[in-house]
Amino acid sequence: MTESGAVEGVDAVDVVVVGAGVTGLYAVHRLRGLGHRVRGFERGSDVGGVWYWNRYPGARCDVESVDYSYSFDEELQQEWDWSEKYATQPEIVRYLRHVADRFDLRRSYTFSTSVLSAELDEETLRWTVRTDGGEVVSARFCVFATGCLSSTHVPELPGAGDFAGATYHTGAWPHEGVDFGGLRVGVIGTGSSGIQAIPPIAEQAAHLTVFQRSANFSIPAGNRPLDEGTRRRQKEGYAERRRLSRLSGGGSPHQAHPSATFDVSDEERRAAFEERWELGGVLYSKTFPDQLTDRKANDAARAFWEEKVRALVEDPAVADLLVPTDHPIGTKRIVTDSDYYATFNRADVRLVNLRENAVERIERDGIRLADGTLVELDALVFATGFDAMTGAIDRVDVRGRGGRRLKDVWSAGPRTYLGLGVDGFPNLFSLTGAGSPSVMANVVLCAEQHVDWLGDCLGHLDAHGYRAIEASAEAVDGWVAECRDRAAATLFMEADSWYLGANIPGKPRVFMPFIGGFGVYGEIIAEVAASGYEGFTLIRD
Ligand code: FAD
Ligand code: NAP
Repeated sequence: MTESGAVEGVDAVDVVVVGAGVTGLYAVHRLRGLGHRVRGFERGSDVGGVWYWNRYPGARCDVESVDYSYSFDEELQQEWDWSEKYATQPEIVRYLRHVADRFDLRRSYTFSTSVLSAELDEETLRWTVRTDGGEVVSARFCVFATGCLSSTHVPELPGAGDFAGATYHTGAWPHEGVDFGGLRVGVIGTGSSGIQAIPPIAEQAAHLTVFQRSANFSIPAGNRPLDEGTRRRQKEGYAERRRLSRLSGGGSPHQAHPSATFDVSDEERRAAFEERWELGGVLYSKTFPDQLTDRKANDAARAFWEEKVRALVEDPAVADLLVPTDHPIGTKRIVTDSDYYATFNRADVRLVNLRENAVERIERDGIRLADGTLVELDALVFATGFDAMTGAIDRVDVRGRGGRRLKDVWSAGPRTYLGLGVDGFPNLFSLTGAGSPSVMANVVLCAEQHVDWLGDCLGHLDAHGYRAIEASAEAVDGWVAECRDRAAATLFMEADSWYLGANIPGKPRVFMPFIGGFGVYGEIIAEVAASGYEGFTLIRD
């Protein structure tokens, strides 16, 4: 055994970071900058995370590019030019590659390599990390930046292997792209990915059939190119923009209306909805502050939305199918689309309502529906989402004190303190995952918030001679209850969303993110740090 406690012959580092998405990249940069020896592992062949994998046509961010970008380096912020209000996937990947080049991040990573397991040595409190490349690394700290939406979900449909055509999942799209020209294409799924992909696929394909189980709320992005003047003003205003974002619920500078929905006149309410509609996309869910807690307020937002959408769809029967009736608006992420509703006005696009006419089985030539008809297809796209928030970590064999498996500890839903630590798993951190605001906010700023907290925490340990930090069981219980109670006070519990694990058969129905808002959460974790890490046990020997 070496002085650090690592096994002889095994690479010993301070920190292992798993994942090279927005979160992992910043973790490597910051922790390395603080003097830690860092090794990163990434399953993909390069940086980008979600943006490396989700190359489907139409993929874009739904938080404005100017906000969905790092704030930690002023020069980076000033030198990068976003070409559109909502950048496309290729542009975001270019940005993340630029970040990797600029800060020389790739040298810390091993790509095309999955971490298979992480095991605690209870004596040394170090983690032994094993990869599918056969590498074994000993690390004092093990940091999971594995992403909330990185573990794809393909539903088990009977006959899936029988299909003669090509199949794709939006979250594992071929790097060389797909040419749908002249093909009869089917898309299963109408969440954000499906809704973004459907219009460009319809443009290309000879015919498109959309298989919809649940309609979703979507709002046109109002996307547009950014001219030089707009970019200059945005860059000049960055300091204030970021300040407001850090205080906000969603990690962007936009604030909800100061009054509750029915504390304003009908005209003012309508004007507020109109303004948000024009702003575009997901921000509509927070037009008024009570929209996600008060059913009547939600209904008002929903009615305005419905009026707008019905005006976009020519066939009222199709519009009926596209209007959700099963969940309050905003309790699943509102989709930010480009021409989604108008796509259903095309003669070569058909909408199949799976609630009335389910998939019977997949056959060689297409999809057989419950009514006996066969929808003939040459290609099938699964836009069926992810085993969200816990899926990627669950796929790693993480063993803490007493050999307990993290997956087992989380069998009734994820259990964390602040989304960062778990009792029984000292020196192991999960970044922008369950128990944190992450997917409810702008994840780039969430990543910075978590990584900065982590950097300070590791500094504190070293400055005070601590070997390890571990969340207490009481603190974990308390945080799980806090997340649960905050969610229970909202309308979010009414939707069968992936926030609740409802999209994965058998997954416990637990609201996984912290719903109290990005700014509030930032205050909570800052206070914990300022108190000397209350709720954590700091271990000296
Ligand atoms: P990821 O980007 O998912 O990166 C995690 C990485 O870890 C992946 O590359 C994965 O390959 C790797 N990994 C996982 N397990 C292992 C393992 N065992 N070994 C090695 N590597 C592993 N959020 C927003 O705020 N705004 C948006 O506009 C937005 N748009 C989105 C669009 C799409 C299509 C999707 C799917 C998500 C979007 N999100 C958006 C949420 C998105 O998850 C975050 O914004 C952010 O990109 C997550 O970054 P991350 O680094 O935390 O995780
Ligand atoms: P999703 O929201 O989980 O949507 C999956 C879709 O597949 C749903 O319509 C779902 O229907 C359907 N589906 C799942 N299983 C099915 C089955 N067995 N039969 C028929 N339909 C089935 O996944 P996603 O669209 O990939 O989006 C996930 C999240 O990623 C988003 O909420 C968002 O946070 C993020 N994202 C963001 C953007 C962006 O705009 N920047 C783009 C893509 C993704 P049900 O609703 O009935 O389950």
